[in-house]
Amino acid sequence: MSKTKPYVCLNCTNEKGMIGFKFRSEKPVCPKCTADGSQKQYAAYVVRCADVHYDPPHPVLKKRGLNTRLCDGKSIFDNQKFNMGSGLPHAVTCPDCLAHPDFPKDIGEIAVDEEADFQL
Ligand SMILES: [Zn+2]
Ligand SMILES: [Zn+2]
Repeated sequence: MSKTKPYVCLNCTNEKGMIGFKFRSEKPVCPKCTADGSQKQYAAYVVRCADVHYDPPHPVLKKRGLNTRLCDGKSIFDNQKFNMGSGLPHAVTCPDCLAHPDFPKDIGEIAVDEEADFQL
């Protein structure tokens, strides 16, 4: 199990030069600017993000998930603040879900449902 958690530093910029440098770490300390989010003066700048876990598709119900996390089988709905799930593999950020043998291997391009694909 990965002990690192996702954070974003609003004091630093990402690779596109936009505000918000994302990193994973055990502690909320930005590797770029060293701001420590556990200290009050930096708490508004180094912000904890949610991990999106993979919610495998339901074997019977269409377009429904199992409502469980692939990485540890726990419920998506346990009222944990940073617990999120998606059946869309592209949305998954949890390193343990991504490394799981049952995570879809070839996820290709993001597929858009035919009925959702229309000209604006
Ligand atoms: Zn920073
Ligand atoms: Zn996970």
